Amino acid sequence: MKNTPAPVHYRVEAASLHAHLYRVTLTVDQPAAPQCLALPVWIPGSYLVREFSKNLQRLTAHQDSRPVTLRQTDKNHWEADCVASRPLVLTYEVYAFDNSVRTAWLDTQRGFFNGTSLCLRVQGQENRPHAIEVLSPQAHWEAATGLTPHKVDRRGFGTYLADDYDELVDCPFELGPFWSAQFKVGGVAHRFVVAGAPRSFDGARLIADTHKICETAIRFWHDRKRPPFKHYVFMLNAVDDSYGGLEHRNSTALICGRRDLPRAGDARQSEGYTTLLGLISHEYFHTWNVKRLRPAEFARYDYDHENYTQLLWFFEGFTSYYDDLLLRRCGLIDDATYLRLLNKTINQVMQAPGREVQSVAEASFDAWVKYYRQDENTPNATISYYTKGALVALCLDLTLRAQGKATLDDVMRALWARCKGGPMTEADLAATLKALGGRAYTRELAAWVHGTRELPLRPLLEGAGVQVQEDAAALQQSLGLRTADSSGVIQIKTVLRGGAAEQAGFAAGDEWLGIEVGGEGWRIAKLDDLTLYAGTHRKLTAVVARDRRLLRLELSLPVGVTTWRLSVGKTERVRAWLTGAA
Ligand SMILES: [Zn+2]
Repeated sequence: MKNTPAPVHYRVEAASLHAHLYRVTLTVDQPAAPQCLALPVWIPGSYLVREFSKNLQRLTAHQDSRPVTLRQTDKNHWEADCVASRPLVLTYEVYAFDNSVRTAWLDTQRGFFNGTSLCLRVQGQENRPHAIEVLSPQAHWEAATGLTPHKVDRRGFGTYLADDYDELVDCPFELGPFWSAQFKVGGVAHRFVVAGAPRSFDGARLIADTHKICETAIRFWHDRKRPPFKHYVFMLNAVDDSYGGLEHRNSTALICGRRDLPRAGDARQSEGYTTLLGLISHEYFHTWNVKRLRPAEFARYDYDHENYTQLLWFFEGFTSYYDDLLLRRCGLIDDATYLRLLNKTINQVMQAPGREVQSVAEASFDAWVKYYRQDENTPNATISYYTKGALVALCLDLTLRAQGKATLDDVMRALWARCKGGPMTEADLAATLKALGGRAYTRELAAWVHGTRELPLRPLLEGAGVQVQEDAAALQQSLGLRTADSSGVIQIKTVLRGGAAEQAGFAAGDEWLGIEVGGEGWRIAKLDDLTLYAGTHRKLTAVVARDRRLLRLELSLPVGVTTWRLSVGKTERVRAWLTGAA
C-alpha cells in the first residue's frame, strides 16, 4: 500500500460482465476510528434523489488482512470499526445496468460509470487527493475520462488522479471498443469518443461540426483567451432510441439515437442531427454556465440530500437559449431553422397551462419533486425551467438590444467576471443587468422569473424583425388533450386545464373508443378519425372506457385555438440579433 499515489485509492475492475457487476477496492491510507463512508444519493446536474446505494452489495472491510466490523447507519452510510492510521481496505460490488448518463453500465459490449455510483466517499478526507485505477474488462477495450492520467497504458487503462472527491465524481469513464478522435480548440486538446456507432457513421463531419461549436463557445466567454480547462472529452453513447446529456467540469456524457448520427456520403442535415448538435452545444456551454458560474447553493455539493436552488431557470434556461443560438452563430443552422427551433420552445410553453400556476423560480426549487417526477398532471401544475427559462433569456436579450446599451452576451461575460467564474446569486444577475443595461431590471425579473403572467414575446420578436403568424392548432391542442394512439386505441395521457376535453369530463387513462354524432355511432382508432366522422358537427358524444366502465361524455369541439409560426420578417434586424452583433 506504500506506493499508492493518493491517500484515498479506488481500484475498479469488472467482477462479471454477464452479471453487470463492477468490483471496487477502496484503500484509505489513514482512516479515522471509526471511519464513516457514504455513497451519494444524487448526481449533480440531474436533480433527483436516485439512491445509488441500492446497487451496492457485498461490502466488506479489512485492516492488516483482518476483517473489520462494518455497521450500516442509514440507507447510504456505513461505519468501519477500524484502528486509526493503518490502511483500511474496503471491497464491494456495484450492479451497473442503467443505460443512461447518470449511473453506470457494464456488459460485454461497453462499460460506463460515474463516480457517484461507484466511489464511496471517505468522510473527513473529501478534500484530499483521490486516485482511481481502472482495469481493462476486455483485451481490446479503451478508456476515456476527463481525469488527469497518472500512470496509464496507451489504451487509457491505469491510474488517474483527482484533487478531491468532487473532481473524482465529476469525471465519468467510458470503457469499450469505441470510435475516437482528437482535435484542438483554443489551444486545448478535445477528444470525442462514440460508443455504438453504426458503419455509416461520418465521424469526420461530427468532429468538424463540434469543432465549430467549441470555437464559438470559447469565443463567447473569453474572446481569444484560453478556456478554464486543460482538456475536454465528449463521451457519446449511440443507441437505438434515446436522448440526453449530463454536463461535467471538463467532459460530458451524451446519449443519442444511432439514426441521429451523420452518415457518410449524405450531406443533408437531418432534424435528428441538428438536435444532437444542439445537445453538444448545450452541454459544452454548461462547462461555464453551471459547472463554474453556478448557484451559490452549489458552491459545495451535499451528496446526501437534495440541493435546492431557485436558479435553474438561469443555468438550464439560459443554456437552452444559447445552445441553438450558438449553432446559428457558427453557421450550422440558418435563420429559418433557428426560428423553427425557437418556435417549438414558444409553443411548448404556451401549451402548458402550468405556466399560470408556477413561476420558473418555483419550478427550479421544486425540480426534485416536480420536473424530475413527471406525471399526467405535470403540464397543468408546472412549467419547465428549460423552456420558459430560455424564453426569459430571449426576452432579456431582445429588451437589452432594443435599448441599445448591451446584449445578453455582454451580461453573461460581465457576470462571469463579477463572480470570477464561481458561485452566483440572482442579485449578481440583477446588478449586472443594471450596470450594463443602464437601468434596473427589477420589474422584468419580478414578472418574468417570479411571476406567472405571459411574457411579452410578440412585441419583442416583432421588434427584432421576426414575423409572428397564428395557425390553427393541431386537434390534440384544440381539444386540450395529450394522447398516445397505438394499436388502434386512443389513450388519454393528459387532460389540459381549462380545455374542451376537461369540460367534457375526460380523465387521464381513459381509452377513447368511439363517437356518436348526427345519429350515428363510430368506433375511432386515432384522433384524426374525429374529423373524418364528425364532419362539420361541433357537438358530439365521446364514448370512453375508464376502469372498464363505459362513459358517455358530451364534447363541444372548440374553434379558434391557434399556435404561433415565426418567420424572418425584416432580414437585417433578425440577422443582427442572430449573428451576435449588438
Ligand atoms: Zn442542461
